[in-house]
Amino acid sequence: MSIRVHTLAKQLGITSKELLAKLKSLNIKAAGHMSALDDGTVQIVSAELKGKTKDSGAKVKSKAKPKAEPKAKPKVKPKAKPRPAPKAKPKVQAKPTIEEQPQVKEEPAQPTQETVGEEPKLKPLQTKMPLSVKELAVKLNVKTNDLIKHLMKMKIMATINQMLDEDTVVKIGKEFDYAIERLPDLEEELLHIQKEDDAEGDLQHRAPVVTLMGHVDHGKTSLLDMIRKTRVAAREAGGITQHIGAYEVNVGNKKITFLDTPGHEAFTAMRARGAVATDIVVLVVAANDGVMPQTIEAIDHAKAAGVPIVVAINKVDLPHINLAKVKAQLGQRGLNTEDMGGKTIAVNVSAKSGAGIDEMLEMILLEAEMLELKANPNRYARGVVIESKLSRGTGPTATVLVQNGTLKIGDVLVCGDFCAKVKSMINDQGKQIKQAGPSDPVEISGLTGVPEAGERFYVVEDEKKAREFSFRRLEEKRLRGASSAAHVSLEDLYQQIKDGKIKELNLIVKADVQGSLEALLQSLQKLTTEDVTIKIIHSGVGNINVSDVMLATVSNALVIGFHVGIQSNAKELAEKEKVDITLYNIIYEVTANIKSALEGMLEPHLKENFLGKAQVRQIFKVTKVGNVAGCIVLAGKIFRNAQGKVIRNNEEVFRGKITSLKRFKDDAKEVTAGQECGIGFERFKEIRPADIIECFEIEKVARRL
Ligand code: GDP
Repeated sequence: MSIRVHTLAKQLGITSKELLAKLKSLNIKAAGHMSALDDGTVQIVSAELKGKTKDSGAKVKSKAKPKAEPKAKPKVKPKAKPRPAPKAKPKVQAKPTIEEQPQVKEEPAQPTQETVGEEPKLKPLQTKMPLSVKELAVKLNVKTNDLIKHLMKMKIMATINQMLDEDTVVKIGKEFDYAIERLPDLEEELLHIQKEDDAEGDLQHRAPVVTLMGHVDHGKTSLLDMIRKTRVAAREAGGITQHIGAYEVNVGNKKITFLDTPGHEAFTAMRARGAVATDIVVLVVAANDGVMPQTIEAIDHAKAAGVPIVVAINKVDLPHINLAKVKAQLGQRGLNTEDMGGKTIAVNVSAKSGAGIDEMLEMILLEAEMLELKANPNRYARGVVIESKLSRGTGPTATVLVQNGTLKIGDVLVCGDFCAKVKSMINDQGKQIKQAGPSDPVEISGLTGVPEAGERFYVVEDEKKAREFSFRRLEEKRLRGASSAAHVSLEDLYQQIKDGKIKELNLIVKADVQGSLEALLQSLQKLTTEDVTIKIIHSGVGNINVSDVMLATVSNALVIGFHVGIQSNAKELAEKEKVDITLYNIIYEVTANIKSALEGMLEPHLKENFLGKAQVRQIFKVTKVGNVAGCIVLAGKIFRNAQGKVIRNNEEVFRGKITSLKRFKDDAKEVTAGQECGIGFERFKEIRPADIIECFEIEKVARRL
């Protein structure tokens, strides 16, 4: 008879994690909490633990013990205010206010203190960063030209409006006898009010927050519906569940929160705004289909975010399925299930019959146990927006997930550019509630605008403070907009490595076929040098899509396309987010180019400049010439002999030279937006109505070193 780690842990009254630690200390191999232990092992461990239990009052409780001690902590951290008994006093007083916190502005700047001996003249100065040359000149009380000259001496060629980073500003400050210190940005200041000074004793377990991901049609929505139907409705007989973007289910005396927008795009879009709301990803893989492109995307997105994965193999009710094959495919992607000797938890489920769902919920709780998710319900709330909308009656509403603290009616919060005095709160069963604790999703009203999903919220002490924060938020946004985005590009890669800013080069690689993808990945891996490691955070077959660009944004990655195009919405996003995408047709070129970039020897690269766009209305057959597309120019200009590409359903289907351009019967050199024309390509005859023809020129861009 064998018994699984998590079952034995339950019997012994300890967590799986503690049991695994014990096994490790006894040199007994167990991969994870689903590993089976034989009788002999069970006896040894049980005896060991029983011995310990007597003298220590169970090691298990050791976490509860220090709860009495944290009072000592404030001595170490003089800034932390003793927390009054939370329930005894009105909430606002129970929490540290901004005034109570040491005011950053009043503190003398650190460098002054440190350098008192050598440079007694350094005057303290605090400012926001980044700062433009002009703004810095005003702060230092010098002429802009003098400052620019100084910068030139430091080998920094800057214009008046150029933004300077913190290092540079501090360096220049010293030259002018100032000890410059960065003022905390808004997020930091808010976090400061909400400082994570929770003593261990204040922390309580919170429910895991789960997102379902996987390939389209593998059953994410069906699973979410099934869980909701069987678990939420059962709780409230006759109650109607309300769609608020997330819901909670009870499993025994524990809870799980499910986010209702499945898929990795929403997940990564939230990350792009700085929030990881998800604790655990449930990867849904259909048993009949196995691992598919979006399964791989989902795995890579979850991995890039460092979120653990529980696999749900769905549709096991179908005949002729091969579970071993699915597990082998998962293994190839680094998800080795426990029965294959790995640590990944996998459960067989059917969203149709409901089979396996209870076990899946159990397994989510097991994974959560390993994560030891905790929060302090007795403090100002903070969390993240899951969904938002503008409703007719109530105005802007948002479903927020409370991540720490307790949100109450009447609380004042800041969220993005907006603030709110919480007017009402509705839970996932449509019930009005007065407060929501950690991991609770709740729809709130009373906002001054509609915040974006992924935006973080923080409760502050009063409306005045909230308005002040909103104002500063806008100011910071303006500043950030002025400074260039910090994403890595091939051109400045070498510089960034030299400055020690990059130790790992993240790449996203897309290719037209699996064979070339694998060959390419192998060659790329070999480029790892002493200074920088090449890390492929995602690779796949197909055109570069929005999800690739989003992943590149959040992971500061370069995107490489081999024999593939870029979907037009992905291109727009890449331009907005300043993500570097390079397309290649020869493997050697990819590796040579990246190698040169790593070594700072990059040749000028070729950049496409958009010239104009036309839409095909009709196809004409012209003798000797072949098919000519009758078009209307939608934007810019189309030029004869320029490069053109044909886009169909957002995918590039052809690129080549525009060899013929006609206005009515005459040859034309160029045709402008609003006019009709005939466009012909040398080798492309399969042009169709509704195709988009984009005209562009190729420019050589020198590397910026
Ligand atoms: P999503 O795109 O991942 O959200 O997938 P859906 O939940 O929309 O499911 C896609 C299709 O698979 C639908 O037709 C479902 O009825 C079907 N489906 C989902 N789960 C199961 C299952 O467990 N068994 C069977 N036989 N079909 C399922």
